[in-house]
Amino acid sequence: MRDVVGKCPHCEYAGNVGEACRERVCSRKGYHFIPINHFEDLKDRPFHARDQHIGLVMGDYLIVGEVGKGGFGKVYLALQLPVLMKAALKLMVRGSSDPVTAATLLKKFEGEALSLARLNHPNIVRLLKYGTFVDTPYIVMEYVEGGRTLKQEVTERVFIGDGFETATAKHIVGQILNALESAHAQKIIHRDIKPENIMLQHVAGDKYFVRILDFGLSKFVEDRTQTSMVVGTPTYMAPEQITGKNIGPWTDIYAIGVIAYEMITGRRPFAGKSRQEIFSRKLDPLYNPVERILDVGYPEVVLRFFERAVAREADDRYSNVHEFRDGVERVFRALEKTQHVSISSSDLAQ
Ligand code: ADP
Ligand code: MG
Repeated sequence: MRDVVGKCPHCEYAGNVGEACRERVCSRKGYHFIPINHFEDLKDRPFHARDQHIGLVMGDYLIVGEVGKGGFGKVYLALQLPVLMKAALKLMVRGSSDPVTAATLLKKFEGEALSLARLNHPNIVRLLKYGTFVDTPYIVMEYVEGGRTLKQEVTERVFIGDGFETATAKHIVGQILNALESAHAQKIIHRDIKPENIMLQHVAGDKYFVRILDFGLSKFVEDRTQTSMVVGTPTYMAPEQITGKNIGPWTDIYAIGVIAYEMITGRRPFAGKSRQEIFSRKLDPLYNPVERILDVGYPEVVLRFFERAVAREADDRYSNVHEFRDGVERVFRALEKTQHVSISSSDLAQ
């Protein structure tokens, strides 16, 4: 392979990218030379303030930078040796020393890898490898280059006071539905569909190519074990996730219902100042989520769609992706006709 000059993130000596640094302490700690451009990103911070994993090689992946941090893991940019192909490596974070919590965490992490291993859809990020590094498991997946999360996209649009054009909202929602259809066909429920776990990638020919991430909470339908913890994110969580019963495809469909509501109306269907307030609205039979958008003057078909999309009872909801897709397509057709473009409000900036 062609030699590329890099630097050791520990002693800062120069050497070929991917090769182990031979300086005594570095070789003991396992540091390798990383490309100069990634080294430049670290340069301004003293070594102790940098992530200590940068420069290590896990399997054949050289860690060169940080890309994100979530609840269960830290995500790094890695280069596969020797060809230096970019990949995202998610390393499990061992937050607690309590053995029960640690075992639950490990189960979730393995669950994510097992789900990703079964999935095969262009709108879902692909698994490249599952491995362990000194007893800590990691997942390597495709790197979503130049991607931003749907949450970032929404926040930016709220900031500049611009909603989604109907065609863009339709395109994004359509791709999320395609990804979910494929996961549900494999009997995998994501359970944590939210704008932070949906990346938008600018690829040639498409500014809004969807890549779904983070199957960390996903569950196989056949797995009947009850979840003891309340997992998920209040805004997008379905009522059955609060009570822990009857989780199924309709649970993900509820979350995409909330996302569609937000993208189309610029408001949240169940706004609340606290987790508790959001939950109690979601569980309250008298609360009607479309009341928040009655002032806009949406056509009836739009209101009926949202009522059903985020209905409290799973039985009153769209029960599968096909039904939801038919419903949302009718909404977009109506919005195109009436020239309603989506509006944003400060609701979503929270
Ligand atoms: P968690 O379970 O910790 O929430 P995620 O899988 O959601 O982890 O990843 C956390 C963040 O890392 C994401 O919001 C995203 O910004 C970034 N990220 C995760 N996977 C990738 C990827 N494959 N490509 C690019 N960025 C990624
Ligand atoms: Mg996440």
